[in-house]
Amino acid sequence: MEQTLVIIKPSAVERGLIGEIITRFQRKGLNIAGLKMMQLGEDILREHYAHLVNRPFFPWILASMMATPVIVVCVKGTDAVNVVRMMTGATNGRNAVPGTIRGDFSVSSQENIIHASDSVENAEIEIKRFFKPEEIFDYTSRSIEFIYAPDEH
Ligand code: ADP
Repeated sequence: MEQTLVIIKPSAVERGLIGEIITRFQRKGLNIAGLKMMQLGEDILREHYAHLVNRPFFPWILASMMATPVIVVCVKGTDAVNVVRMMTGATNGRNAVPGTIRGDFSVSSQENIIHASDSVENAEIEIKRFFKPEEIFDYTSRSIEFIYAPDEH
């Protein structure tokens, strides 16, 4: 099964949406393989958002992502990267389709509630960036037979 990284950003922590977001992933049938609160610093954010460091708005991203601690979540399931990206919605909350997390809770391209890995390769790198190996748990939900067909998991 695939694993992906979600960061519940300060915009969601501050607005009391942590539980709502985790509930959505669990209701979908995805598993939580890792979960913790951490305060992000400039070094890890420069690495994580390396593709944006030269953009004029990068200082705003830094300030926004360090405004409160964040919740990092390792979400696990069949095709988890794609499933979670679809549940996340477009980067700009104003363009995100209602029903997606960004579509339901944001109207901003910066304060857009969560980060979700955009490819299987990046998910692997990002999980290692935010979690130690012993913080990821390999267990199988007893409900698996009610969530997937036998050839899906
Ligand atoms: P995504 O988070 O959807 O994968 P990007 O990797 O392009 O999108 O951007 C990373 C994060 O940088 C976004 O989630 C958002 O918080 C911030 N961001 C992107 N574009 C802008 C922008 N034009 N202005 C301010 N912040 C932005």
